[in-house]
Amino acid sequence: MVLDSPGAPLREAELTVPEPGSGQVLVAVDVCGVCRTDLHVVDGELAEPKLPLVPGHQIVGRVVEAGPGARRFARGARVGVPWLGWTCGECRYCLSGRENLCDRARFTGYQLDGGYAEVAVADERFCFPVPEGYDDVQAAPLLCAGLIGYRALRLTGDAERLGLYGFGASAHIVAQVARHEGRRVFAFTRAGDEAAQAFARELGAEWAGDALGPAPEELDAAIIFAPAGELVPAALAAVAKGGTVVCAGIHMSDIPSFPYDLLWGERVLRSVANLTRRDAEEFLELAPRVPVKTQVETFPLRAANDALARLRAGEIRGAAVLQVVPGGA
Ligand SMILES: [Zn+2]
Ligand SMILES: [Zn+2]
Repeated sequence: MVLDSPGAPLREAELTVPEPGSGQVLVAVDVCGVCRTDLHVVDGELAEPKLPLVPGHQIVGRVVEAGPGARRFARGARVGVPWLGWTCGECRYCLSGRENLCDRARFTGYQLDGGYAEVAVADERFCFPVPEGYDDVQAAPLLCAGLIGYRALRLTGDAERLGLYGFGASAHIVAQVARHEGRRVFAFTRAGDEAAQAFARELGAEWAGDALGPAPEELDAAIIFAPAGELVPAALAAVAKGGTVVCAGIHMSDIPSFPYDLLWGERVLRSVANLTRRDAEEFLELAPRVPVKTQVETFPLRAANDALARLRAGEIRGAAVLQVVPGGA
């Protein structure tokens, strides 16, 4: 499924099977998760995607061929391919353990063709073994919703009372990890979204309610997953002195002006950008121990536009996943 120009629907196309280059593997895609970032790419909210582009960066598949020098995975090995597709290894960010900020990083399903396809090529250094015990469909949302959510959760430090703003794919995973770590979870959704609020309570949130209404008590940290700038002052108002608000999305509408009082008291406002390979290793090791159970809605690959539309409308419970072989895996 190909994006020709932002704003246009994806087009079903027959493409040439790519050759894995040096250090790359060719992966037969079983499933690919649908991420909100895919929506931002398709809707033109992220600048200068590769065009035409195969979107998708939560790939679970099997290695079918190795390019020159690639020997990390045996043929047939199940791998996950996430958003971070390549880094330079030599800039000041890469050299200081912050490859997520690499100036020359390339991202799967954005600057590199991704997983809304039957095959994809990936740099083997940025592929990960998928934890056993997860089938392909269940595993796909771990690869971005899970990884980025995990990085955002780490940036909240040891916050006990955690607010999650927007209860979609990422929050439904983070809530489980946070409960596992003994944190208290408060879920903030669109006003009146009782389905999302009930879903959050099922996953261990002790309270769920309107994101722009009052919080039931002070929070120690908040993570904003929804791409709505007006949530930033709301979350700052909800956190206690010294608390952190993490913006976890790659795109957000403008943040309205707010009084300095909301930031005063050593409150911290920050974003989380991308992931490092270390985040992926840590989270994929942790997920089965929680154990994180993902809730997914599946679509055949050729229904990618429907999946994106339902995500845009806030109609997905948990995560959306495209299946290359419908009903398979
Ligand atoms: Zn770099
Ligand atoms: Zn993503």
